[in-house]
Amino acid sequence: MNTKTIIYPGSFDPPTNGHLDLIVRASKIFDKVIVLVVQNINKKPFFSIDERVEMLKLIIKNRKLKNVFVDQYRGLLVDYLKEKKINLILRGLRAVSDFDYEFQMVLTNRKMYPKTEIIYLMPDYKWVYLSSSLVKEIVMYKGDVSKFVPKEVLKFIKNKY
Ligand code: ADP
Repeated sequence: MNTKTIIYPGSFDPPTNGHLDLIVRASKIFDKVIVLVVQNINKKPFFSIDERVEMLKLIIKNRKLKNVFVDQYRGLLVDYLKEKKINLILRGLRAVSDFDYEFQMVLTNRKMYPKTEIIYLMPDYKWVYLSSSLVKEIVMYKGDVSKFVPKEVLKFIKNKY
């Protein structure tokens, strides 16, 4: 059988309801979804990669998403894809602001690994404006983020302070 596995790479610092929305959608379309926590050198980390993996694992386990797995990688995404023999990448499209960066990412990844195909999904309208950066900003000012992140993430945020 030709099973379709897709990799959903990102910083997930921290995972938000927007990320979860995409994970659930993808789990219904693909046979297997691997949520891959990678380092984004352009973003200052708030949670460690291990903490992000732990949060994602809890979120997925509590929602019984049986075909979703979590992994981490500290190198280039294309090297992970080649290693695992997977060519499908999932990314989210929110506002137009995502487009430029994503366009760059697709073409660069294709140059390095021509088999790459990227699939974009849009979240529910409730989350189109939501980003991890926004959540971090609210947290920094001690605001309430319970409407924006899964409950598992709230516990990690509380423990950070
Ligand atoms: P990165 O640093 O790789 O952009 P993010 O964790 O910010 O990592 O985002 C990972 C992926 O999840 C990106 O494709 C991004 O567009 C998508 N994403 C982030 N927030 C949302 C959201 N609210 N709704 C849908 N997709 C989202």
